[in-house]
Amino acid sequence: MFSDVDTIAAISTPLGEGGIGIVRISGKDSLTIAGQIFVAPKNKLLRDAKSFQLTYGYVIDPVTRGKVDEVLLSVMRSPHSYTKEDVVEINCHGGMISLTKILEIVLGLGARLAAPGEFTKRAFLNGRIDLSQAEAVLDLIRSKTDESRRIALDQLQGGLSEKITTLRDRVMDICVHIEAYIDFPEDEIETDSKLELSASLQDMRQKLLMLVKTYDEGRFFREGLSTAIVGRPNVGKSSLLNALLQKDRAIVTEIPGTTRDIIEEYLNIKGLPLRIMDTAGIREVKDLAEQEGVKRSLQSIENADLVLALFDRSEPLQEEDFEVLKRTMDKKTIFVLNKSDLPAAFDRTVFSSLISHPSSLFLNISATRGDGIEELKDAIFGSCLKNWKEAREGVVVTNLRHKTAIQNAHASLTNAIKALSENQPIEIIALELRDSLEKLGEIVGAITTEDILERIFNEFCIGK
Ligand code: GDP
Repeated sequence: MFSDVDTIAAISTPLGEGGIGIVRISGKDSLTIAGQIFVAPKNKLLRDAKSFQLTYGYVIDPVTRGKVDEVLLSVMRSPHSYTKEDVVEINCHGGMISLTKILEIVLGLGARLAAPGEFTKRAFLNGRIDLSQAEAVLDLIRSKTDESRRIALDQLQGGLSEKITTLRDRVMDICVHIEAYIDFPEDEIETDSKLELSASLQDMRQKLLMLVKTYDEGRFFREGLSTAIVGRPNVGKSSLLNALLQKDRAIVTEIPGTTRDIIEEYLNIKGLPLRIMDTAGIREVKDLAEQEGVKRSLQSIENADLVLALFDRSEPLQEEDFEVLKRTMDKKTIFVLNKSDLPAAFDRTVFSSLISHPSSLFLNISATRGDGIEELKDAIFGSCLKNWKEAREGVVVTNLRHKTAIQNAHASLTNAIKALSENQPIEIIALELRDSLEKLGEIVGAITTEDILERIFNEFCIGK
């Protein structure tokens, strides 16, 4: 089916020690290549292996004929495979030497090292999944909480695609209907028909708007809610971080090739992944000059979705505390009064009078004793996910690329409705509808460019 495409191979499991590791091969020569390096008991041949069944045997070095590793091999024949091509997966022992040796042998026999995300890209190009589903593969792999996983899996299974495709089909029907009038300029769209078309377009526009709205909160599940924990030295920032970490161990993602300043730590707050900014700063601030520490802490406010502003309730407020108050003015902030186990040095009402926005939340906690931590988690979840209960029942948009496309489609529909109501030429209305179709098509990849594909698949690792 895809005979002109070369055969690709890569290690598909993480590099490091593991019980098993997988070398994946995809393309027309997969079976031939794997067949040349595989020996099974009773001389069973790989080409006779059934799809989706494991075959036990050894990978051998084609030059020395020596055994390389004991393996289980799975064959998935085109078109019923991840890429829709012939796929062979070699399950060997999960060590760097075995895996790289087998990969080298496979490459030596004519396969090419896969580019990042190329297996998934082929699944898309060969029509097994659409673009939003391909993106969901990465979201699923990167999901930080169970709720993120659920949303990514829903998208992978076509939740968003189905919604977008249904809307596209409806716009397409209307577009075709309207375009029919272009060839018969003497016919005018009847008023009744016009009203009906307009109502239908308005309904679709509303549906698009609802989808866009889910992004406000949906994005947190894909990207994490970036959270800055700020306060002057010794108010208890590290202690709070530890208290939050105690039950839900953070997922630490090390981005290869970057300094440890960009280590990302995620906390799981009732399914919401919190990306704690500048954890290195919070932990290492003791080594820095105090001034520098505060500066760093305040800097992290800028890009935060949420600020946890910490104060030491057992000491009178100091100049730096006022600086923190000032800097959080136009940010979604939860004011946290720490050290509630000690006698209070200032009054809660005095403190609340200092906060400029009346809807701000403030809570008493004791980071070291763990008092108020659950309430704080509830407050974080509640303040950032106001509409989540309803949104999670339906399709949720988590990806900025999708949101932008939906917004653009919405804008074109708005123009089309306006043009229709103003009796503008049919061509203008049709043009807007075509534009809206194009924008929706970008989401599922019906309309795409190499540039977009490159951007999407470059985010993947090799082997996915
Ligand atoms: P940071 O500089 O803001 O990160 O503050 P730390 O977390 O290092 O805390 C500074 C000091 O305050 C440490 O000695 C902590 O043990 C103490 N501390 C933090 N939270 C509490 C609390 O809730 N109650 C009491 N009594 N001490 C606390």
